[in-house]
Amino acid sequence: MYADVLIQYSTKELDKTFTYKIPTNLTVFIGNKVKVQFNNKKIYGIVLNIKASTEYDEVLEILEVINPEIILNQELIELGKYLKDITLCSLMKAYQTMLPTGLKVKETSSLDKYIEFIELNKDREVIVEYIRNHKKSYKQIEILEYLLENKKINKKDTNLVYKKLLEKDLIKIVKKRIYRLESYNYNKVNYELTEEQQSVVDKVELNKKNTYLLYGVTGSGKTIVYIDLIKKVLGLNKTAIMLVPEISLTAQMVERLYKTFGSSVAILHSRLSDGEKYDEYTKIVKNEVSLVVGTRSAIFAPINNLGLIVIDEEHSSTYKQESNPRYNAIDIAKWRSEFNNCPLILGSATPSLESFARAQKKVYKLLELKSRVKNYSLPHISIIDMSKEMKKRNFIFSDELKKELEKNLKIKQQTMLLLNRRGFSTIVSCQNCGYTYKCPHCEITLTYHKSTNNLRCHYCGYTKILEKYCPNCKEDAIRSFGLGTEKIEEETKKLFPYARIIRMDRDTTTKKNSHETYIKMIEKEEVDIIIGTQMISKGLDFPKISLVGVINADESLNLPDFRSSERTFSLLSQVSGRAGRSGIESKVLIQTYNPDNEIFNLIKNNDYIGLYNNEMVIRKKLKYPPYYYILGIKVCSKNYDLASKHAIKIASYLKNNVEETTIILGPSTANMFKFNNIYRFQIIIKYKYDNLLFKSVKFIDDMYIKEKDVYLEIDNNPINI
Ligand code: ADP
Ligand code: ZN
Repeated sequence: MYADVLIQYSTKELDKTFTYKIPTNLTVFIGNKVKVQFNNKKIYGIVLNIKASTEYDEVLEILEVINPEIILNQELIELGKYLKDITLCSLMKAYQTMLPTGLKVKETSSLDKYIEFIELNKDREVIVEYIRNHKKSYKQIEILEYLLENKKINKKDTNLVYKKLLEKDLIKIVKKRIYRLESYNYNKVNYELTEEQQSVVDKVELNKKNTYLLYGVTGSGKTIVYIDLIKKVLGLNKTAIMLVPEISLTAQMVERLYKTFGSSVAILHSRLSDGEKYDEYTKIVKNEVSLVVGTRSAIFAPINNLGLIVIDEEHSSTYKQESNPRYNAIDIAKWRSEFNNCPLILGSATPSLESFARAQKKVYKLLELKSRVKNYSLPHISIIDMSKEMKKRNFIFSDELKKELEKNLKIKQQTMLLLNRRGFSTIVSCQNCGYTYKCPHCEITLTYHKSTNNLRCHYCGYTKILEKYCPNCKEDAIRSFGLGTEKIEEETKKLFPYARIIRMDRDTTTKKNSHETYIKMIEKEEVDIIIGTQMISKGLDFPKISLVGVINADESLNLPDFRSSERTFSLLSQVSGRAGRSGIESKVLIQTYNPDNEIFNLIKNNDYIGLYNNEMVIRKKLKYPPYYYILGIKVCSKNYDLASKHAIKIASYLKNNVEETTIILGPSTANMFKFNNIYRFQIIIKYKYDNLLFKSVKFIDDMYIKEKDVYLEIDNNPINI
């Protein structure tokens, strides 16, 4: 037998299969990872096909099968081709994206984890006899007696001498494979669905490949609906995948799922260690679990017999991968839902405009949860004009927010403070000469972090110690402006010295399990005030939160992106939705310098439909999604002139080689124009249906693979432009 092996070789040009002979002593399946010889080197590859004959006279043999039980199944092999087609990545890259880090094709060492146990190796009578005859060998007897009673000892847990017993063959060492993550035991909770929830569940047809949009206000019990649907699907002996947008949300979701599904749950997200990922992956491949929960890449879980996919907070930009391959998990989910003929549920209180438009056009089926559980009311939202507060020298806390916070502390309720910017202050500059600190690699203003007294680039991570004197004019006139979460934390501590405060942002949650730790603290009410970025804005369910303060709502409103209104609405509605989830009266205070902006009215009235209608008019006029699709091409080079020259060349080629309805904009400098010392020009393409465009882009892409000093980043339906 022969195998077509897709080999891993660094260049895209070699993204094809080569035929190898399967030696008689090896069992090889389609989807196996194998070791082969190529150009006198030993490299790895994936078997994509097995056949009885080959046209070649002489072919090399496959050398070895790596991790034989981990196989890309037929579905994933097909899915890889789709991923390649929609993102223009290489097929090898597509398969590597699907495999967890520890299993990427080039890794070799096995990650199986074993525990060694000591067990008895002889019948009870023999052991008892031995004990009788060796009364003086206390230590040996101690082990044997323990084993008679308990059957096994973890070899690590004992420092007893067992070597002698081993020599005499009385005991043996047994190796057992274990998984690093085990579901913990919880008391099962069973909710009675509300009428509204039940009617949503009943509307979902389990044996059809429909996409549903579950549009349900915050706190309406979307999770309960997901859980009930998963229960049904598992009852049919099928499996499910559920995606959450952020690692910060996995802990609470996993806890809820463990409560209902116990050990049938596997978890996949990037904070797991390679070993943990590998173990979870193994559970899935061996069909030992029936529900996978995780972040974006969990959509590639090799689970068989898929009966349902749920994507929670479907509006989240985190479902889009922003590096090669630039895929959106929702597209992958749609493909898998079709392949498996099973439903896909997209859930959100603030759906993306694209999704809601599809529901309006009946491409998606709309499901609605209009009220909070038990008719709990949504929080009362007030908008605070910070320009008035400024005159009272209130730059961070308005009088009202201060007052409400104090009140909330007194009645022992929790408060959440949102500022979507981490660090201490956003701009550091010299009052004398106007010098500002910029990242030498990215041309982006550096953010000051007080705890480490350094300036940091939030794009590439470049850091620099802040000196006392201006590097330009040598004056002692360096001052900082603008707000970050770190500064909010400091101010809050000053104002409320007795409050227990935590800060959750990317800087405070770098350690493994730090999210879990913080979430546990909030649940156990060891915290009064939670300060954070968008990381805390959605999905979380804490009963004690009754006040939410948004420090500077203009932060996201001022972003130069056509989605900035939609994003602001969604961020502020979501964070408001964290309050009052268990029926206590709750308040949201939104501080802004633009209180007259129409968006605040919409947020106040929880008027998603209003936002949708307003935005759709603008999107139509400006030819943005959902009326047009967008494709972005970034032309990148270390050499400014080269990047610019090629960008102009590509844009003019495209203008002559696409449909007439397609609009080519640019080239212009990209949003992050200089990133890691690479200059980036961008061409934005707005299109409706254009096969010609994709042919042309593919043509250009193939051409630039061979180019040394210029490369392209192609992003179909980018989430940021
Ligand atoms: P959403 O995801 O829509 O914001 P959740 O699923 O987190 O809402 O539910 C909000 C809260 O209401 C949770 O604490 C949940 O346990 C509770 N809840 C939801 N449905 C029910 C129900 N049918 N009976 C009792 N409590 C419920
Ligand atoms: Zn940088």
